[in-house]
Amino acid sequence: MSASRAASALVLLLLVACQAAAPSPTVNTQPSTIPASPTIPASPMPTEAPTAAATALESPTYVAPTLAPFPLSANEMIPVVPIIPTGFSAPVALTAHDHLYFSLPANARDINNSMPSQRYGTVQEGTEADAHLGLDYSMNTGTPVLAAAPGTVVWASYGLLFNSEFYIEDPYGISVVIRHDFGYDGERLFTIYAHLSEANVEVGEYVERGEVIARSGSTGQSTGPHLHFEVRVGTNTIYFTRNPELWIASEDRGVLAGLLTTSKDALLFNRLVEITSRDTGQRWTMYTYATVFKLLPDDYYDENFVLSDLPAGTYEIAIPYLGTWQRVDVEIKPGMVTYFHFRGTDGYFFDTPPSPTLGFVPGD
Ligand SMILES: [Zn+2]
Repeated sequence: MSASRAASALVLLLLVACQAAAPSPTVNTQPSTIPASPTIPASPMPTEAPTAAATALESPTYVAPTLAPFPLSANEMIPVVPIIPTGFSAPVALTAHDHLYFSLPANARDINNSMPSQRYGTVQEGTEADAHLGLDYSMNTGTPVLAAAPGTVVWASYGLLFNSEFYIEDPYGISVVIRHDFGYDGERLFTIYAHLSEANVEVGEYVERGEVIARSGSTGQSTGPHLHFEVRVGTNTIYFTRNPELWIASEDRGVLAGLLTTSKDALLFNRLVEITSRDTGQRWTMYTYATVFKLLPDDYYDENFVLSDLPAGTYEIAIPYLGTWQRVDVEIKPGMVTYFHFRGTDGYFFDTPPSPTLGFVPGD
C-alpha cells in the first residue's frame, strides 16, 4: 500500500463511519410506499408527459423504452435495459437528463422515521474528509434489504472498500453491490448496500427489483443499526458516487435540487438551507455538500443540495446569506425534479441547466 493509499484508507475509515442519527423533531413525513416489485411492461416510453390531473395516485410502473447500445467488454453480455419510472397519474415531467431509476432499498414502513438519518455530502465530525457518500436509513437489525433495480450481484461479503472479502474490519462491514442492467449516458450503474447483518445473495446471482438481497445490521464502521445506500456511476469505487436522492423514484413525491454559490459562482460549502412546507409547516433543516473531496454532483444538475421525497405542494426555501435570510417560494410537483440556483447577492434563479448535448441517450 502506497503512502497516499494508506492516507486515503485512514480518511475512508472516517468517511463511511455512518451514524444512525436521531431524526430532526420537525421531520415527520409519511413515506410513499413503493411496491416491492413493480411490473416492467415492454411498452414504449411516452413521447409526451401525461397531463392528467393529480387524482388517485397509482403505483409507478417501470417501462423499458428502448434497448440502447452499451459499451460492453467481451465477457460482459448482460442486456442493457434502460428503466424510466412512469405510471404516475399526476403530471410527470421527467426530462432526458433525469434518472429516477431506483426504488427505495427497503420497504418504506421498515425505515424508522422515514427519512435518511444522514444525507449525501454531509459531515458528522466536522472535517471535510468525513463527507458521507450515500444515504443512511435507520432501521432495525434484520430488516429486509431490497434490490433497488434489476441487476447482477458483484459483491456480497465483508471487505468492499479494501477489496478483500475476509477483511472483517472493513468500514462497509458486510455489503452487497449490484451492477445494474441499464446505464446512464453510457455509464454503468451500481448500487451499494452496507453494514448488513447478513447477505442473502451470492456473487453472480441475478436479482430483480424489490428482491430481498440482505438483512440490515450494524457491521463495519457503524454506530447503530441502519442501511447505508450508495449509487455509483461508471466505476464501482468510492470515487464515483452520486447523490442517491436524485436517483430514487417515489410515486407521488417530488425532488428539489439546488446549486448554492456566490454571485461569482464559487460553491457555498456546508451552508444551512431550510425548506418549509407552506401547506403543513413541516421543516427540513439541510446543509449543502461539505466539500468537493470525492463528492460528485450530478452530471446534469451540478447541484450541491438535494431534498427528495417531498409531497407535492408549495415550499419556502430559506438561506441565510450575509446576515440576511434569503427566501423564495417554490412549487414541488410529483415525479419531477425542481431545480434552483441560489447565486449569492444575485438571488434565486430557476432556469434549468442547458439541455444535454447531442449524442446523450437517456437510460443508455
Ligand atoms: Zn452511511
